[in-house]
Formats: sequence, structure tokens, C-alpha cells
Amino acid sequence: MSAPRVEVDLDAIEANTRSLVDRLGRTGIRVTAVTKAVLGSPGVAEAMLRGGAVGLADSRVENLARLDSAGVGSARTLIRSPMLSQVDAAVQHASTSLNTDSSVLEALSRCAAHRGATHAVVLMVELGDLREGVLPVDLVPLALAVRGMAGLSLAGIGTNLACQHGVAPDDRNMQRLSELADEVERAVGSALTIVSGGNSANLGWALGAADTGRVDELRLGEAILLGLDPLTRLPVEGLRTDAFSLVAELIEVGDKPRVPSGDLGQTAFGRRPPPRAGGSCRQGILALGRQDVDPDGLVPPEGVTILGTSSDHLVVDLGDHEATVGGELAFGVGYGALLRAMTSPFVATVERRAVSPRLPATLRGHSPVSR
Ligand SMILES: *Cc1c(COP(=O)(O)O)cnc(C)c1O
Repeated sequence: MSAPRVEVDLDAIEANTRSLVDRLGRTGIRVTAVTKAVLGSPGVAEAMLRGGAVGLADSRVENLARLDSAGVGSARTLIRSPMLSQVDAAVQHASTSLNTDSSVLEALSRCAAHRGATHAVVLMVELGDLREGVLPVDLVPLALAVRGMAGLSLAGIGTNLACQHGVAPDDRNMQRLSELADEVERAVGSALTIVSGGNSANLGWALGAADTGRVDELRLGEAILLGLDPLTRLPVEGLRTDAFSLVAELIEVGDKPRVPSGDLGQTAFGRRPPPRAGGSCRQGILALGRQDVDPDGLVPPEGVTILGTSSDHLVVDLGDHEATVGGELAFGVGYGALLRAMTSPFVATVERRAVSPRLPATLRGHSPVSR
């Protein structure tokens, strides 16, 4: 099998989705599953739908087009404001998009009307994290404008916290979202079908809140895929954190001193402190580098230590492991490492449904990581 590769356990993704769908369902919150970290993989999307997600969402039109052409039967939402240069593709491949800009909305309206389609709009409102969203004071006027645009239907409102500044969803900002939903409904004179509270960072609030108010949807990626809460990077109770591993192949193994010899300047990627311990170790080099993965988010197998990474080499202390050249090591991944691996042309993806027998030479490490 080719290396490096990302191995995906689709059963873990289905189980994580089901667990969240069941628990959030008790408070009237639906799960829209976000596929951007897996580039809109149809296999992963199907696992999310089997687990009970009501729809799929992605930040890239290209990924939604991939789901569309694979025939994955589900509503598709574009969760980044469409580029003006891509509005027609957005209308073609997404039934709904998250929006903040009136010129984009006008362009969507023209494209939808031209296609004889109705494109649903969720207006994003800024509630403290200072990424996308109109200010609360501008929400009602924009909603009224959307009501007047041919080819568009106002489906709801939403917000996004945590991504830019780490602002945590809480009773205060979520209650504000509920109030704004009421205000918009009064102004436009009809009910909103979507009040989208946010991303995986909303889970702590949503699973613990006494009252989740008008929030009836969350857009979940990281929690489903990695089982982690982005606010803490700790596991979400009841979720599996082992759905993904990154497998790489050893190309050199041998005893080497721990401490470099010679005067030290910069390394390929800046300065690093020289190792403190002396003596020698069983050093392994994997055919894996920064072109394949973000090394910060890699979790080595138990007993293996990462010593350094450059463009194409990952150097490890193998400890007591017997691994030899041609053998493989499997690493756990954080969100950043997963994203880089999935977008690297050098890394293959292998999706599995039932747990398959594992190669004896493959040492595995998975545990949650902090970025
Ligand atoms: C990426 C993204 C999500 C999903 O975020 P996770 O932390 O992976 O759950 C939700 N909404 C928007 C707007 C996003 O960009």
C-alpha cells in the first residue's frame, strides 16, 4: 500500500456523528456535517449521513461539486461567503449558502433567477469573534433586502465563534442570536427555518446549557472527525479520537548520537534548541515531511519521540521498537496536521468501513493533541 497515507475509519466517523446527533437532538438541534477537512470526500460524507446528519456543508465550492458529482444525496451548504467570481458554481452545487455581503447576494440572486432555481440564504451575524458576519444592527435591513431578491429565499441566520479569536459560545452570545432570530422574523413577517449556532466549539455550551433557545442547527466538522473540542483540544465525551491516522514508511534506521557535532546555525526551518540528553539512540527516518503534514499536530506511537522535521524527512527516536527500513509507523493527527495531509498531493487516502487487520510492522499512536 502506498505511503504516506491517511487511513480513515468510516465506522468511527459514523459513530461520532450518531452520538452527537442523538445528544443534540434532545435539545432540538440538528447536525449539519462539515466535510472541508476531508476535501468533500463522498465516503466520509456518506458515513456522516448514516450517522444522522441532516445535511452536508463545506467551505469550498469545489468540494461541494465533488459531493454533487458523486451523487451523494443530501442538501449541500456553502459555509464560506461565495466569491463573486464563483457565484454561479455556488448556486449550481449548493442549495444554501452563508452570506454577509449585499453585492454577493445580488449576484447570487441573478444567477439563481437565471437558472430558474431558488437558492436559500443564511445571513451570518457578528457576535464577538470578529470573523465573518454583519453587525447585529445591520441584520434586519439585510434580511429585508434578501426578501426582495428574485431567486433567493431567506432560510435563516447564523453565527460563527471561536475560529478567529477563540471567543467561546455561551448563554450570552447564543441568547443574543435567539433574540436576533425573533427580531428578523418580526421584520420579515415569516418564520426562519435555520438558526445556526456555530461549529464544534459550540458543543460544550449546547450539551450543557439549560436552554438552547432558538438555536436549531450546528455545523460540525472537527468534533465528528477527530472527536475533539476545538476550544480545549480535549476529547468530547463519548466520541472516538482515532478515526484518522497518518501512516509513513521508514527509509533509514540506525544508532546515532543524540547531540549534533559542529557549530550550530539555523536549520532548514529556523532555529531549534539542541537536544539535552547525551549518548545515542535508535534513530529512524520516515519518508514524511512538511510537504506532507504539519508536524506540530502529529502524535507518535507510544515509546517513539519526534526529533525533527524538514521538507521531506521526519526524524524519530524509535526507543525500544524493532521497526526496520520498509516498516511503517502510524501517527495520530490534529486538525492542522489532517488538513495539510489531506491537501498534500503526496499523501494518499484510504477509507475503511469495518476495522481491518493492521500491519504488524505498523506502530500506532493516536491521542488528542493541542495545536
Ligand atoms: C469550518 C467551519 C465550520 C466547522 O468547524 P469545526 O470546528 O470543524 O466544527 C463551521 N462553520 C464555518 C463557517 C466553518 O468555516
